[in-house]
Amino acid sequence: RIRPEVIPANEINVTFADIGALDDTKESLQELVMLPLRRPDLFKGGLLKPCRGILLFGPPGTGKTMLAKAIAREAGASFINVSMSTIASKWFGEDEKNVRALFTLAAKVSPTIIFVDEVDSMLGQRTRVGEHEAMRKIKNEFMAHWDGLLTKPGERILVLAATNRPFDLDEAIIRRFERRIMVGLPSIENREKIFRTLLAKEKVEENVDFAELAAMTEGYTGSDLKNLCTTAAYSPVRELIKQERLKDQERKKKEAKGKNSEDSSTKN
Ligand code: ATP
Repeated sequence: RIRPEVIPANEINVTFADIGALDDTKESLQELVMLPLRRPDLFKGGLLKPCRGILLFGPPGTGKTMLAKAIAREAGASFINVSMSTIASKWFGEDEKNVRALFTLAAKVSPTIIFVDEVDSMLGQRTRVGEHEAMRKIKNEFMAHWDGLLTKPGERILVLAATNRPFDLDEAIIRRFERRIMVGLPSIENREKIFRTLLAKEKVEENVDFAELAAMTEGYTGSDLKNLCTTAAYSPVRELIKQERLKDQERKKKEAKGKNSEDSSTKN
C-alpha cells in the first residue's frame, strides 16, 4: 500500500521570503490558512467556519507549489503532496482504501496541508467518457473524506490544490474550494521584484538594471525568470572553463615544442 510522503513543517525548504512578488496572494493565504490551522478553537461554526479547500489556478511555473509549501511551513503544518502524475501508477487499479489511508495519515500528523498538484487530473470532470472505474472510486472517496472535514471543526486539515486548467474541474469540485485564487503571469513591477528575490543572495554586477530586465521579459513566468538567472550565473563559469581550456592547450603546445627541440638536440 502506498504511503504518501509527509514533510514536517520544519523540513520544508521554501519560505515566503523566497517567493518574489505575489504579495496579495501571500496575504490571502495567511488569512485563510494560518489561523484555522493554528487556532481551530476560534472557528466554531456560524459565519466563522474554517476554510477546507483552496484552489490556486494559473499558468505553469507561476509559483503555486512554492506558495503551498511556504504557507505550510509558516503555519507549522505538515505537507503532504499528492500530485496525481507521480502517484497515478501506484494508485491506478487499487481501491479507494489509499485515499482513506491518506486522510488518516493527515489526521495523525496534523495540522496538515494536503496539496493536490494538477488537481484536474485527479478530480476532473466526473463523467469523463472512458473514465477508469478505479479513478472514479478514488475521486468519490476523496470527496467523501474531504466533506467529512466540514463536520469536524477541530480537525486541522486543509486541502490546497493547484491547476493550470481550472475549466476542466466540474461544478461539484469547484464548489468544494471555498476560495479560488488566481496566480497569473507577473506584471513588469512584479518581474522586477522576482528578479530581486532570485538574485538577493548572489553576487551581481553593480550596473545590472533590474527594471530594464523586467521590461525585457514580458510573458515570462517566475520559473522562466529563474531559468534565465541560472543561465546567467553559469556564464562566468563557462568563461572560466574556456580560459582553462585555452591555458591547457598553450601548455600542451609548449610541452610539445620543448620535446621537439630536445629530440633534435639529442640527434645532433
Ligand atoms: P506548475 O503548475 O508547473 O507546477 P507552479 O505554478 O507550481 O508550476 P512552481 O513549481 O512553484 O510553479 O515554480 C517553479 C519554479 O519557478 C520554482 O521552484 C521557483 O524556482 C521559480 N519561481 C516561480 N515563481 C516564483 C516567484 N514568484 N519567486 C521566485 N521564484 C519563483
